[in-house]
Amino acid sequence: MKIGVLALQGAFREHEEVLGRLGIRTVEVRKPDDLHGCDGLVLPGGETTTQRKLAKTYGLWDPLARLGGRGMPILATCAGLILLATRIDGEAGSSLGLLDIDIRRNAYGRQVFSFETSLSVGRTAETAGRADPFRAIFIRAPRIVRTGPAVSVLASHAGEPVAVEQGNILGLTFHPELTPDPRFHTHFLEIVRRAAASREEGKPGRDSMETAVGNHP
Ligand code: GLN
Repeated sequence: MKIGVLALQGAFREHEEVLGRLGIRTVEVRKPDDLHGCDGLVLPGGETTTQRKLAKTYGLWDPLARLGGRGMPILATCAGLILLATRIDGEAGSSLGLLDIDIRRNAYGRQVFSFETSLSVGRTAETAGRADPFRAIFIRAPRIVRTGPAVSVLASHAGEPVAVEQGNILGLTFHPELTPDPRFHTHFLEIVRRAAASREEGKPGRDSMETAVGNHP
């Protein structure tokens, strides 16, 4: 298994470290070619506007949209999650529209309002065999202000979703790569394994993923 980590800006090294500790091979994605052969992708936190601009400049925007549309498993955290949303509330900036949520950037206020809290994460806790809660770090985090019918909520904070899943996409408004608890990464790897298994069964597979990386429509 090989996981591509979008390495244009932000907290990509920390994700690589967590995946490395879990015995997973990672590749830093900076250009479309780096996407070849990836079984899953991580879109890290950072600064949305910068990441969007760099992804477009390096020709990654369209391949990412195509791969996501074809079921490539994606773990998106914070800025990465903003880029996946259907709609970024109050902003004209484009998004990949792969996850049916509306999201509001910097919605808890300025940097000083970044915080750490405990989340109840029953389902993922079970998966990795650890007890609740999950210690989550929110850094100038966005808020998910709408979830579509296909989106399941894995964890909430103050009554609002902060961890969501839709198909092969796992989206988190916080930074699981900054705490030693790998449950969300482990859960993501299960999504990747499940997607690989259904490809084996002849569903849309690696070939169609490979075409998606290329620069044709
Ligand atoms: N505030 C950032 C943005 O909107 C996201 C924060 C993060 O990724 N930690 O771009």
